[in-house]
Amino acid sequence: MLNLVLFGPPGCGKGTQSARLVAAYNLIHLSTGDLLRSEIAHGTALGLEAKKLMDQGVLVPDEVVIGMINSKLEANKSAKGFIFDGFPRTIAQAEALDKLLAGKNTSIKAMLALDVEYDELVKRILHRGEDSGRSDDTDPVIIGKRIEEYNKKTAPLIEYYQKQNKYHRIIGKGTIEEIFAKLCNVIDSL
Ligand code: AMP
Repeated sequence: MLNLVLFGPPGCGKGTQSARLVAAYNLIHLSTGDLLRSEIAHGTALGLEAKKLMDQGVLVPDEVVIGMINSKLEANKSAKGFIFDGFPRTIAQAEALDKLLAGKNTSIKAMLALDVEYDELVKRILHRGEDSGRSDDTDPVIIGKRIEEYNKKTAPLIEYYQKQNKYHRIIGKGTIEEIFAKLCNVIDSL
């Protein structure tokens, strides 16, 4: 199985690149942000609770997202592999993911970390907010909070995967095609 963590701050291009990687490598895309937005769209209790936190730009509880990922892994047992997008976002989530995958005799092959400067992130998110319909994409204060959450709780995962020799840094500058080519180079060299 080819299991990849596509990593990076909000607005770094994970969603855009995931769509291309899924098509190129025949993988299943698992975005906890998308799964949560789907819960919100269906008006579930989980969605209502998550929305309050998402609108503030803070993370939802680990057990909520771990549970969602577990169900998706169970539902896609014959997959060639997964791209994890926006998950894990905390050390506890990364540990839980390692355990879940080990229970299925597989593991994370690589963390592909997109590196994009702060100002560029804010610019991209505000641009996306013009038609994404996401309330967390339009308010610069909330966007700042999301990036702060990333720096505080999510960035430490770089060291977590570095220790496992799985960390690959990709400069997220250039066209979508150029960044995609860089990602493919890393994957093809694994
Ligand atoms: P995203 O679409 O990945 O930018 O996520 C949007 C929002 O969903 C985040 O700001 C969090 O509130 C929540 N979220 C998504 N994924 C996670 C996760 N793995 N852990 C905690 N919260 C998450």
